[in-house]
Amino acid sequence: MSFEELEAVLADMGEKPFRAKQIFSWIHEKQVSDFSEMTNLSKVLRETLSKQSFLTTLHPVKVLVSKLDGTRKYLFRLADGNIIESVWMEYHHGNSVCISTQVGCRMGCRFCASTLDGLVRGLSAAEMLEQVYEMRRLMGRRVSNVVLMGSGEPLDNYNNVVRFIRLLTDGRGLGLSARNITISTCGLPDGIYRLAKEGLPVTLALSLHAPDDERREALMPIAKKYSLKEVLPACDFYFEQTGRRLSFEYSLVSGVNDTKEEAQALCTLLGGRSCHVNLIPVNPIKERNYVRSGQQAIADFKNVLEKNGINATIRREMGRDINGACGQLRRSYSETCPERLSVQAGGE
Ligand code: SAH
Repeated sequence: MSFEELEAVLADMGEKPFRAKQIFSWIHEKQVSDFSEMTNLSKVLRETLSKQSFLTTLHPVKVLVSKLDGTRKYLFRLADGNIIESVWMEYHHGNSVCISTQVGCRMGCRFCASTLDGLVRGLSAAEMLEQVYEMRRLMGRRVSNVVLMGSGEPLDNYNNVVRFIRLLTDGRGLGLSARNITISTCGLPDGIYRLAKEGLPVTLALSLHAPDDERREALMPIAKKYSLKEVLPACDFYFEQTGRRLSFEYSLVSGVNDTKEEAQALCTLLGGRSCHVNLIPVNPIKERNYVRSGQQAIADFKNVLEKNGINATIRREMGRDINGACGQLRRSYSETCPERLSVQAGGE
């Protein structure tokens, strides 16, 4: 519930307006997991609330800790039995969490494990918030950045994602700065235009992965529906409206999109934009035979971008030993415990 919705519910219950502030702060700022911990509320109110409402929607079922870099990958079970994954990452500048926005995905990107079984459903704003709050509770540490780069296409679950961001940035709760949130999209122009007008200065990352439509279509079926001529102007509009520098993600696949000529074509495509390119050596999944580019090819690709004045980084590969790429862990879990992934009507 938004602050205003909570206020209305409490007013209906005959409670004083300041209760909304207290409860909102318990949920979003102090992030308690039980109404009994809300010690400045009367016992009667705490009991009424726990009878008619619930606070948590996910249960951790598994955590994998990377031996390489401390990255942690969590598998959470939702109330309907579906499983999602979220990642905790530690950087010099603070802790970052990567969350899922859907159970599965229907965008079909060829190299991505999240989409292999299609879309089950979008996550509610609460289910997205709980990934952040639950990891924060489990780690006992602050979260400084949130990236919507887990399973799912955020702009294909638009209303819930925007509701989630409004709750996460609400100053009466956690009050995370919108600037510390990144939405990654495969490129749905309508969603990008809409997001640009929300007044939320979140960072937009476009999954580009190729310098032209033809090569992009081979990796991303969505590119057949929306050409770069439609997607890039939407990104430019986003930049004009929010002033946020654009990010482009480019997963490097050996022999598919990683030559110096392709790097040069990417520079031409991006020409003059205020942007950042994130190079991601592809994480091979066993269902496809994509191979990651070699160290030299990756370095050469980056060099071409930099020589053309384009800011580029090679994404630090975090948690590679723990199925770090989108959807890989959930999938391996569902292969060993298939019954867990079925949607169980009526809850657990
Ligand atoms: N649906 C959103 C979020 C997806 S995940 C989007 O398309 O942007 C975040 C990034 O990881 C995307 O750029 C996605 O294309 C990329 N990705 C997914 N699986 C990958 C893999 N196996 N190797 C490298 N990058 C991958």
